Order: sequence, then C-alpha cells, then structure tokens
Amino acid sequence: MDSSKAYPMKGGDGISSYTKNSSYQKSLSDVAMSLISDAVAEKLDVLACGTPFRIADLGCSIGPNTLIVVENIIKSVQLKYDEYSFPTPEFQVFFNDHASNDFNTLFKTLPSNKHYHAAGVPGSFYTRLFPRASLHVIHSSFALHWLSKVPQGVIEKDSRAWNKGRLHYGGADNEVVMAYREQHMKDVDGFLKARAEEVASGGMVVVLVPGRPNGVPHLECIGNVLFEVLGCCLLAMAKEGKIEEEKVDSLNIPIYYSSPNELEEIVDRNGCFRIEKMEVMPHIAEPETKDAAGRLAMGVRVGVEGVLKGCLQEETIDELFESYRKRLEQVPSLYSSGGAAIIFLVLAKKES
Ligand code: SAH
Repeated sequence: MDSSKAYPMKGGDGISSYTKNSSYQKSLSDVAMSLISDAVAEKLDVLACGTPFRIADLGCSIGPNTLIVVENIIKSVQLKYDEYSFPTPEFQVFFNDHASNDFNTLFKTLPSNKHYHAAGVPGSFYTRLFPRASLHVIHSSFALHWLSKVPQGVIEKDSRAWNKGRLHYGGADNEVVMAYREQHMKDVDGFLKARAEEVASGGMVVVLVPGRPNGVPHLECIGNVLFEVLGCCLLAMAKEGKIEEEKVDSLNIPIYYSSPNELEEIVDRNGCFRIEKMEVMPHIAEPETKDAAGRLAMGVRVGVEGVLKGCLQEETIDELFESYRKRLEQVPSLYSSGGAAIIFLVLAKKES
C-alpha cells in the first residue's frame, strides 16, 4: 500500500456521496458558526486587511458545508467593515482540497448570487499553497485529523509499530498509537508553518477538528471505536476466507484524533501562532435506532472508502459495510456511548 495517497470524499451528488452524507459535520459546523462570527468580530484587524479580502477553506470537499461556512465568514467580515464604516471589500475565496477532489460538483453548486470571486486550489494543505502574506481568514473544518500519510512503521512487517490485523490504532499496541501520534504532530506542525507564511497581517486561522477529550483513552473515543468495529468486521471476513489476511495487515486509516492538550502542545512547540481561543464542543451522539446505525455506517463509508478501494474489490467493500451496519444496529451502545471532542481553535500569528 502506498503510504502517502490522497483520499478525498466520495464525489457527485448520489446517495453515497459526501454531499448527501455530511450532516454530522454540518451540525457541528452550525454550532461553530457563532464562534467564528465572534472570533471575526473580536480578533480580525480590518484596519490591516485592505482589499481584496481573501478567504481560504482548506479541505473543503465538495460541499455543501464549505459554501455555508464561507457565506458565514463573509457576513461576519462584512459586519466588521460596516462597524468601522469602511467600504465593502471585494471578496476572493479559495477552495482547497486534494487535486483528486470532485471540484466539478463543488463549482456546479456555487450559488449564482454569491458575493465573492471563487477559485479552486488543488494540493495538500500540509504544504505551502498560497503566496506569502496573502490570506486574511484561513478556515479548515473536519480535515486536520487526516494524516498526510500512513506512518511508515505501521506498514512495515519488521517494525515494532507494525499494525497487524487492524485498520486503525484504537485498540493497538502503544508503538502503533505513538507512530500515528508522531505523524499527526509532524503534519500539524507543517500545516502551521505553511499557514504562518500565508496569513496576512491582521488575519486569522480558524480550525474545527474532531478529536478526543483530554484524559479519555483512545478506545473510548467514538471515532476510534467506529474504526475498531470496522476492522473487526474486515478481519472476520478474512477469517472466513473472503479476503487475504495480509490485506487487513496492509490497510490502515490515516486519521488521528488529537486531544485539546495535544493540539495545544503542537501549537506551542511550533511557535508561529498564539491560541486566541480554544473551545471544546461535545460530540452530538446518534440515537440508538436502525436509521441512525445505517446513517453512521454510510458516513464512515463515505469517509474511508477511498482508503479501502486501493486494496479491496467493490463487492467486498459492499459486503464489509453491510456487516458493519448490522453490527452497529445490533450493538448500538458501540456508537451511542463513546466520547469525542470537537475542537475549535482560533490562531493569530505571533509578531516576530
Ligand atoms: N470541510 C468540509 C469537508 C470535510 S471532509 C466539511 O466540513 O464538511 C475532509 C476533507 O479534507 C476531504 O475532502 C479531504 O480530501 C480533505 N483533506 C484531507 N487531507 C487533506 C490535505 N492534506 N490537503 C487538502 N485536503 C485534505
């Protein structure tokens, strides 16, 4: 398995697309709306910003959430300009995701009455994407938990971090957890370094990322539990001879759920930014119903199908998610009782 591939969400607008299966992310982004508005009102230095006012949404996927967030940011900025009796600036919005993201679907759904000039920016946000000091609000939601790659040791048979028989690190040995953690720390450090170059004077970086509450063991975090259950379903299929066990060994989901303390440590160590605000929102648990189990199974599939596709046939993936849905339906406590922390961060660049 290539350890550094891009896994964008399922494109188009069919029933299994990200567009139709991103209501969980939307519900939390809705909660974060007022936090973003407050951050713009309190922290954005419009005197320094000028025109055009440039916004970037990193890891935008195909909508609709990115369009809603962008509108909210523009409204909040507009209010701030009005408050200073400044003329409305021209807005330019950059939508970023991996080059293989379905930008076509996103661009087709851009509202015709939008008040901004839109552009797509392909590439990994773990690298530089924009000119120096060119962006005023940099936003990213539900994306920074994706690692730039599967940690190398996790896929090497002779490594102590080899993740045999699992898809993720939740129930794995400490070496595996540490390999994931280190990759995440390195990635977020790279993200911050790149953003520190790109953010304009007076601008801000706003991040919303799913994580794990401080002090909660990985396997009590809902995201980890969901991947652990998926891994068990895949392993069961391997035991039945439906796929080779080596495939399970080689597959790893490149996602890490940071705690607020871990994120704080990364920002401090990186040294480019000050944390202006950190809020931890509770996860919104799904009810213990058949519908909810189905929704959840589909949500997980939309997220990680790209990871599985390189290794498994379409029919195997269908069968895997059918048994996964049933498992969640039979044992709803698996998903209704786990914890999660949705971490909201506002960062301002430290003046050197
Ligand atoms: N922000 C949207 C989409 C979240 S889905 C929302 O809140 O609904 C996560 C998105 O992040 C995916 O589209 C994925 O392709 C993108 N992503 C993950 N890692 C990335 C990276 N390194 N660079 C750019 N985009 C990335």
